[in-house]
Amino acid sequence: MKGWVLNATDGVTLEIEGEPGRVEGFLRSLQNETPPLAVIDGLQVTRLSPIGYDDFTIRKSVEKDGEFVLVSPDVATCGKCQAEIFDPTDRRFHYPFTNCTHCGPRFTILSDLPYDRAKTTMHKFEMCDACRREYEDLDNRRYHAQPNACPACGPAVWIEPSGTATECGDCIGDPVAVAARLLQDGRLLAIKGLGGFHLACDAENDAAVRELRRRKGREEKPFALMAASVESIERFCEVSSHEQTILRTPAAPIVLLKRRPDSPIAEAVAPGNKYLGVMLPYTPLHHLLLHQPGLLALVMTSGNLSEEPLCRSNDEAKQRLGPIVDYFLLHSRDIEQRCDDSVVRCYPAHNSCLTIPAQPSTMDSMDSQPLPLQFLRRSRGYAPFPVRIDRPLRPLLAVGAELKSTFCFTRDNYLFLSHHVGDLQNVETLDYYHESIEHYRKLFRLEPEAIAYDLHPDYLSTKYAFDQTDLPKIVVQHHHAHVASCMAEHGVEKPVIGVALDGMGYGTDGKLWGGEFLIVTRDHFERKAHFQYIPMPGGDRATREPWRMAVAYLYHTFGDEWIDLDLPFVDDQRVRPWPVLKRMIDQSVNAPETSSCGRLFDAVAALAGLRECVSFEGQAAMELEMCADESVEDSYEIARCTGESDDSAGQLDFRGTLRGIVRDLRSCVPVSTIAARFHRALAATILDQCARLRSESQIATVALSGGVFQNRFLHRLVVQGLDDAGFQVLYHRRLPCNDGGLSVGQAYVADARLKSGNSR
Ligand code: ZN
Ligand code: ZN
Ligand code: FE
Repeated sequence: MKGWVLNATDGVTLEIEGEPGRVEGFLRSLQNETPPLAVIDGLQVTRLSPIGYDDFTIRKSVEKDGEFVLVSPDVATCGKCQAEIFDPTDRRFHYPFTNCTHCGPRFTILSDLPYDRAKTTMHKFEMCDACRREYEDLDNRRYHAQPNACPACGPAVWIEPSGTATECGDCIGDPVAVAARLLQDGRLLAIKGLGGFHLACDAENDAAVRELRRRKGREEKPFALMAASVESIERFCEVSSHEQTILRTPAAPIVLLKRRPDSPIAEAVAPGNKYLGVMLPYTPLHHLLLHQPGLLALVMTSGNLSEEPLCRSNDEAKQRLGPIVDYFLLHSRDIEQRCDDSVVRCYPAHNSCLTIPAQPSTMDSMDSQPLPLQFLRRSRGYAPFPVRIDRPLRPLLAVGAELKSTFCFTRDNYLFLSHHVGDLQNVETLDYYHESIEHYRKLFRLEPEAIAYDLHPDYLSTKYAFDQTDLPKIVVQHHHAHVASCMAEHGVEKPVIGVALDGMGYGTDGKLWGGEFLIVTRDHFERKAHFQYIPMPGGDRATREPWRMAVAYLYHTFGDEWIDLDLPFVDDQRVRPWPVLKRMIDQSVNAPETSSCGRLFDAVAALAGLRECVSFEGQAAMELEMCADESVEDSYEIARCTGESDDSAGQLDFRGTLRGIVRDLRSCVPVSTIAARFHRALAATILDQCARLRSESQIATVALSGGVFQNRFLHRLVVQGLDDAGFQVLYHRRLPCNDGGLSVGQAYVADARLKSGNSR
């Protein structure tokens, strides 16, 4: 082929000449044989008359004003770099910062664009001659690899004791080998990584894992693991071929895998959980560490205190993590932008919806590959890669929710969903949120013309929105945003039936919604049905203490007689302050009403004796899912619409379901059966409502969203059922269904409102 190519800030232009068949062949290879990290966002082909070029040249790059480029997420160490660090003859043998054009840090080291070394935290390391030659050689795989480094010129790693450790004689020798030995001895380490620090210990050492829980103040929330290879992981988890592929993608996320019954991993890693969150090493340092003999898997949990953001600098880590760990494995490459590990799961291959072809124009990002991915947290390896849609969007900032917080900027055809920021109720996290917004604004040259925010008046994100006094505000109801986020990722413009099930979101009537059946257009929604309102005695406390919801549901179902039911749960309740709760409920004092599906899960889990109090959000629901025996095929009575609430939406009455559960509990039916029957009743209720709404509205597309759909069993039942009933089912493939994806929905709604002039 003859002709030329050039790089511009808005894309690549390429002119080629050749024999007729070969030009077509070239176009095919261009799309099918891309290098690992290349993404073709769109391709326009124009036929020209041949000019008669003599050769093929690379022309000088062109910068266009106001244009911007996409920023790559961080990329796990590629196979070639892995081979180098284990090759004793290579100059990068055992070098923990080895990378190339196909792999290495990106987003987390970048301070500004254009992406070159001076704008990264690598600027303080000057390349040696050997590295520079690679960097300048077009044929080298380190050509223009900005973080290129070697032992002679790049960052270094070292180990040091924390304030609590007494001796330092341990720290002599290769830091990585020393770290491995200390871990094997049951010590706790903080390990500096790509977008933050990990707290690490030997995952087979129960005492070490418990000690980490104690020192970190994290009682039961599962810890993530890292193991050297898929083969190692297979010693403690079942790994399907899809799951292997996901583990090995350049994003190297934490994948939730089914724990093997004979797993040697300490029970304390994920108490009561059938799944373990596992990732492969994604930096050379991780590879070197896990390669040391004697370590099957490490606990690698976020290096922070409870809900605080990740530590960024070495000094900050020493100060904040010092009390938790015995030693620090540190290095001298700075972290510009923190980024937590992503968490995903493989959808079970159960239905045709998995093969819904992504529209060619939305084959936009690294996460749009046709893998059956469910995101629980979309962060390192994916952020800041945008979701692309067909039509250009107005420039907006959507501020997200409050827990699992993210934000989203729009520009042109892109929705830039941020990395995971966390729980804004924590002061440090709120600062981190502000900083991150400014970072994106600068990086992508963003100038929003309006701000979209959640209807909840007390969300700190809402308060942030109101502090931006110079910009118009667009309010978006929580569940409207959930459904819209699902529409956005599928590029859907037409109305859908939206099923939004989650913990809680503020409703237009001031009540706490969370079991919602909506007819949704991009700029508007109509509430058609919802779970019946149930009081939450004690308000917020009811979310931490599921037994309160069980009491509320029992009272609602059986009236005052509930206290005489012959149930283990009720026997326990006698010691509880029932008269106080009853007064709260009867007089509506500190007992806000909710239609939350999450709270119904809580109630059932508490009733079944699984859990009276929780230490993290969604814990009771998760345990109910974990214990469900999926082979049980019958169900409880489903909820039907009874009456209408003030806004003329139907109310779904679950009293029949509750009676069935109580009946089973009294006959000592196993909890695994009860949990399964409950899941099936819920799924059947959803199908029933969708069918009703379809016949009313003639809409046959259903979008599923909200954190409840993280429940695998429920998700499978609902998707399968809707599919069998001839619905087109949209569910999340590229965004989390929980509040982590909410900001995308807010932006999608706000864009439509601005365009329709309907910006209530
Ligand atoms: Zn590489
Ligand atoms: Zn070098
Ligand atoms: Fe939500």
